[in-house]
Amino acid sequence: MNYYCCRFLIPFVLVASIFGCRADTSPPLKIVTTFSILQDFVREIGKDKVVISIVGPNSDAHTYQPTPRDVRQIAQADLIFINGLGFEGWIHRLIKSSGYKGKIVTATDGIQPMMINDPGEGEVPDPHAWNDIKNVKIYIKNIYTSLSKIDPEQAPFYRKNYEDYLAKLEDLDQFIVNAIKEIPQKKRIIITAHDAFGYYGQRYGVKFLAPVGTSTADEPSPKAMASLIDVIRAHKIKMIFVENITNKKLIQQLSEETGIQIGEEIFSDALSEKDQPGSTYLAMIRHNTDQFIKAMRLMQPKEECRSSSVYA
Ligand SMILES: [Zn+2]
Repeated sequence: MNYYCCRFLIPFVLVASIFGCRADTSPPLKIVTTFSILQDFVREIGKDKVVISIVGPNSDAHTYQPTPRDVRQIAQADLIFINGLGFEGWIHRLIKSSGYKGKIVTATDGIQPMMINDPGEGEVPDPHAWNDIKNVKIYIKNIYTSLSKIDPEQAPFYRKNYEDYLAKLEDLDQFIVNAIKEIPQKKRIIITAHDAFGYYGQRYGVKFLAPVGTSTADEPSPKAMASLIDVIRAHKIKMIFVENITNKKLIQQLSEETGIQIGEEIFSDALSEKDQPGSTYLAMIRHNTDQFIKAMRLMQPKEECRSSSVYA
């Protein structure tokens, strides 16, 4: 490089790097979500934004006990996403004690909830709306819209991410519809630890049964356990499932009583750690579906396998 080149180029590089530094040090949006599945949705749309989850992978949001660290995280947030439908009963008190005055987005806004009968409270919404991919399309639309409002300059970026993820969700939904069509209706019974798959069951035509209700805080009655044992024997169920967030004891007890096997762990209310098969929502739903199909196929006598009945 000659003298004249250095003379003009060096000041230019200095000025450029100063402006470059300014742009890089502008604080990124800090977004707080309540649980890991919602964190995954927000990351899919926000990509490089800082997205924190109060309840981590393999952890139970139903019975979560907030910590002082959570109060600090919320106090520093630019935006908060919650599931709603009564899932995170602890969140409103936590937000109040943090002094946070920003926007709170309920990601399930616009979803038609399934209503269930809670013995203590009457008719309440089932909070596990994410287990139906059709609902997740509404979650991500709410996320895309909210991020675009708080950060309008990047709205086209969020829109692109939203559209890309929507296409992946539609592909997975279609895969599940096609896979479950191959299973005869009367074999579509799955037993899990808590009642987290009502939306999945409604969407894909599978009946889910569990020893406890829609909250893991519930206690199973001896009557509920006895009736599940009856179902297992009557339908010749060969495989039942533990979930990543629940106590394994009840399913182990059912397995011991009936002599049937426990399948691979499934993911209901939280993602897994990165090295496990449910580390993203798409991976989690795919893994769960593979396990459910494996269990339903085990129930099929050989002649029914060949007949390949199709149910919508
Ligand atoms: Zn649950």
